[in-house]
Amino acid sequence: MPRLDSASLTAAVAAACLVSGCAGTRPQSRALSGARPNIVFVFSDDHAPHAISAYGSKLVTTPNLDRLARDGVLFRNCFCGNSICGPSRATVLTGKHSHANGFLRNGNRFDGSQTTFPKLLQQAGYTTAILGKWHLGTTPTGFDHWMVLPGQGQYYNPDFLTAAGRQRIEGYCTEITTDLALRWLESGRDRGKPFLLMCQHKAPHRSWMPGPAELALFRDGDIPEPATLFDDYSGRGPATHQQAMEVARHLFTFYDLKLVPNATEQADLTGPDKAVAALRRRMTPEQLRAWDAAFADENRAFRANPPVGRELVRWKYQRYIKNYLRCVVGVDKSVGKLLDYIDRDPQLRDNTIVVYSSDQGFYLGDHGWYDKRWMYEESLRMPLLVRWPGKVAGGRRLEALVQNIDFAPTFLALAGVTRPPEMHGASLLPLLEGKTAPWRDAIYYHYYESHATHSVAAHYGIRTDRYKLIRFYEPEHRYTELFDLARDPHELRSVYGTPDYQQIAADLEQRLVALRSRYGDDTGDLGGCDVAAGIAGVQPVEGGARLRVRGDASAAYLLTMWRQPITGRAALRSTVQPRTTGEAMLVITSGDPRRQHVRCGVDFGKRQLVIRLAGGRRVTQPLDAIPREGLAMELRFDVPRHTVELSAGGKTLRADLPRRWSDISSFGYGTGDNPAEFTPIQVER
Ligand code: CA
Repeated sequence: MPRLDSASLTAAVAAACLVSGCAGTRPQSRALSGARPNIVFVFSDDHAPHAISAYGSKLVTTPNLDRLARDGVLFRNCFCGNSICGPSRATVLTGKHSHANGFLRNGNRFDGSQTTFPKLLQQAGYTTAILGKWHLGTTPTGFDHWMVLPGQGQYYNPDFLTAAGRQRIEGYCTEITTDLALRWLESGRDRGKPFLLMCQHKAPHRSWMPGPAELALFRDGDIPEPATLFDDYSGRGPATHQQAMEVARHLFTFYDLKLVPNATEQADLTGPDKAVAALRRRMTPEQLRAWDAAFADENRAFRANPPVGRELVRWKYQRYIKNYLRCVVGVDKSVGKLLDYIDRDPQLRDNTIVVYSSDQGFYLGDHGWYDKRWMYEESLRMPLLVRWPGKVAGGRRLEALVQNIDFAPTFLALAGVTRPPEMHGASLLPLLEGKTAPWRDAIYYHYYESHATHSVAAHYGIRTDRYKLIRFYEPEHRYTELFDLARDPHELRSVYGTPDYQQIAADLEQRLVALRSRYGDDTGDLGGCDVAAGIAGVQPVEGGARLRVRGDASAAYLLTMWRQPITGRAALRSTVQPRTTGEAMLVITSGDPRRQHVRCGVDFGKRQLVIRLAGGRRVTQPLDAIPREGLAMELRFDVPRHTVELSAGGKTLRADLPRRWSDISSFGYGTGDNPAEFTPIQVER
């Protein structure tokens, strides 16, 4: 069986390293490792490679990223390990997959006490800075200078968090972030040290608000549509049918599509559309005038004669993709400004490695979608461009399978810092040097953010140069898909279970098990337990199960589906071991459990019973004491009466179930941000 880590890699880079249009793989005069160059790492948000002309995009021209590709190396097969913002960033910092760095899903809080490459560079004598998007919930560590957006940040007149407090800066976020980076390069850094500069853009993340300088782009003509804009998801499993990220159905009229709500509409906004008024209030009168003027004619035409059916989908696609691409052009200009600054000083140019990437790919109408999350190609892929004049031969396209786990080891190798053995990735320097060296022949992926926005079921998988095997493992989505990327590059038809691919599937399944074992990922499949949803890591223990979850309250579930949903009354009983913090819950759901659930249990930190209802509502009652031998909980529900009652520690708490629930179809355990140990749930129907 092939083996896959940096220590025992099997495929030869020579075979994977295709040289195009230059001298390519001539040996370097000296090893790059330990050369201690400056590092400028430009990292954007949701910028798919197929929106970069150097990657062959037919949607947009990105002259500055193309310049980086022409003078540097373009990695044609760079993949994320978990296609979503925070997790990819945590992986970049730590060189570890999500389960090992503890940042599994947006909303987690990054444990800043763990080892990261900026910290190690700092210790090795680098001066370090991060500017722009951070999105990891906790204060940045490992940086001499940081100025980061709170959460997702704002496109117009963004606030920045700094060590000295919060500060609003007037202007457009991409331009401000670039200016902050240039200012730090010019006068902020310690010129006696090599530096790491992380310039991290919010763009082109949703809600795709272009800057004033890009508002007028793409006015004339249409952007080409992807081949799969009208994908019907036949040939793939139910998870693809049940997501909520379709251009046709799930873009919001005002927040995403930039129509301006009239007075009647204003009173009845839902979801992200409710944020539009605040976004508009945030702009200066001048910004708002330019914004409204940019969309006025098209909006008027739309209102006067709204398209229907496929024409409406096409209109939404054009509106979405043009704004996305306008944001991309802003990022491209930023790269140009940084390159211009660096290239003005030959010494700086020759001593600085410039890297461009983005936290994951994105669906640009592909499969009828926007957003990311899936292991399918468009969101699995990341751009990766690396330039180092005089040291790394430019103009090359590398085919090796690389991942965001490799970024930290690469930056450390450049500085001559030994890669901590617990990092999952490997340094890319041998590839950059054109060396014939062993390299991995498959990448690992695991997406966790189920029960969340866009309703994408949790899954993990393996991708080789030709095949991709994806395992969906939640109760209502338990199946495997296999794609032959050579024959089916758009991944329209899973060939899992077909006779021709039996051996290939068996081989990939075995390799996937080996990869999970090698990286130590025991989340997802649950030996000995029935079924799982969400992010729970579960360890069966004598007489029960221990649920493990890192850094996130209310996010782990172990659910069992009833074959016959309960439409009357029933009771659930389990005993949970006492802890000092976090919650331990019994969970019930109706219908698709990824969409809504009611959790009833105990908050150990506050010593109270809690019932958490859909929509963030909760009721609580204080507990006198929590017995050392464990807290016995009993949950009784009555579906026709829409009531639920929790008893524990001599107290009882009652609440109403959602009125639209006509049955309870699954039940299970939930836990807060610490491990919790439950006895098996006893059911009395
Ligand atoms: Ca992102």
